[in-house]
Amino acid sequence: MDKILNFLSLERGDDFCNKRYIVIKFALLATIILFSLFTFINFFINHYWASAIDFISAVVAISTYVYMQKSKNIILSLRIATLNVVVFFLIFSYISQAAHFSLIWTIFVPIFAIITNGKRIGLYFCLFFYAVLFTLSYYYINIWDSGEWLFTDWIRLVLASTVLTACMYIYEALLDKAQKDLQQARAKEMQRSQELHQQSITDQLTGLYNRRYYDNMISKLSTLAKRQNLYITFFILDIDYFKLYNDYYGHVQGDEALIKVANSLKNHVQRGDDFVFRLGGEEFAGIILSQEKEKTHQWITELTTLIQELNIAHAASAISDILTVSIGIATIAPDENNNIDLLYKYADKALYTAKFSGRNQSKISEDLEDII
Ligand code: GH3
Ligand code: MG
Ligand code: MG
Repeated sequence: MDKILNFLSLERGDDFCNKRYIVIKFALLATIILFSLFTFINFFINHYWASAIDFISAVVAISTYVYMQKSKNIILSLRIATLNVVVFFLIFSYISQAAHFSLIWTIFVPIFAIITNGKRIGLYFCLFFYAVLFTLSYYYINIWDSGEWLFTDWIRLVLASTVLTACMYIYEALLDKAQKDLQQARAKEMQRSQELHQQSITDQLTGLYNRRYYDNMISKLSTLAKRQNLYITFFILDIDYFKLYNDYYGHVQGDEALIKVANSLKNHVQRGDDFVFRLGGEEFAGIILSQEKEKTHQWITELTTLIQELNIAHAASAISDILTVSIGIATIAPDENNNIDLLYKYADKALYTAKFSGRNQSKISEDLEDII
């Protein structure tokens, strides 16, 4: 079996479409074998005319097969191959004159046409084929097969051919439906797994990326920054006196404040290469790749003002009557060989300094002395 699959240049475990492709190739190979075989048989029993059309059809079938292998234009190859089969069997039917019910071979037409071309185009081929065949065989009733070809034989031919064509059509329609169902199921499965992935990297409350995504992204982004010769800046933003806020206003209102801060962060840090996260609790973070670190630092610092502009009352705060944040910022230059883990450490240290210096401000790690 493996050898056959190899010959058909397909591997085990291929999907539905490839299985269909195998069937198509088998059908084409079968026509080549049959036409070649009958070229010899008819030649040796002195049916030279039959042998000649078998030979021509075999040559057309082989050329079509080779063309399909080379060009991969399967559709055109199939149309040519089917036309070849249809024309062959019409000539064959005329020449054999229904001798010994030789028309039995025409069952090959609906099988080949519908399996290879699909139900609709296959049916068109069949309709054309049978329109000509039934007319021809009706016209020669009491003449073909030395007058032995009778009306009842014609009726048998029509009935059997119609039933066979209908069966092939239904088989193909069921196969189509199975394929569509499979595709739909796969699409759903993919969408579901995307949703699950999205959920696994998203913070439920704020909709920002979560800590897990931060862990995934940080090393990737640092590689990207190095490759593109960019500064990588990391910042941690922490809400000031948030425990007191919760104690004073309650957890539900605390959640609402977290959402407002998250949205503000999201709106401010919007470029494609920038990421903002909720690290946990009332702690947020962001990674920004840029060419100029000063501008980036300034831009991050603006966040302290933006949060104040939200004007969220914080009566329990020791430094203000509205909600404020402190930010720690750290940057690695593209030519620096700093470990990415240090970036977090630097930013955290800067945040600590911002808190220590009175909160509601940002600090940049490189401005600090004795950072580690
Ligand atoms: P500091 O200015 O030093 O940062 O003080 P702080 O009170 O903000 O810091 P601390 O770490 O002591 O308190 C953090 C608080 O954040 C504790 C908890 O009540 C609150 N918190 C953490 N996660 C959530 C959350 O999901 N929802 C709400 N509403 N509050 C949270
Ligand atoms: Mg805090
Ligand atoms: Mg904190």
